[in-house]
Amino acid sequence: MDEGAKNKKFLEEIFKTLRDRSKLRLNCKVCKFRDSCGGCRARAYNYFGDITAPDPGYVNNIECWNRLHKEEEIMKAM
Ligand code: SF4
Repeated sequence: MDEGAKNKKFLEEIFKTLRDRSKLRLNCKVCKFRDSCGGCRARAYNYFGDITAPDPGYVNNIECWNRLHKEEEIMKAM
């Protein structure tokens, strides 16, 4: 498989995952707004390295945000 075909397949998998809201995790998975919202996938990826992670910028996911903040404080103290 050439490089272009590999990239195409890689992107197809990403977009397939992004379209399937049942693959979201934690609060975004069970949220009644997930089909209309789904959260910011870019933010989820930026903070968790996972496009299916909860969007830590949304108020219902405050525990995720607090956990990230706590981890950041621990890293600063090291
Ligand atoms: S970001 Fe908030 S409203 Fe959107 S799907 Fe996730 S929990 Fe629901």
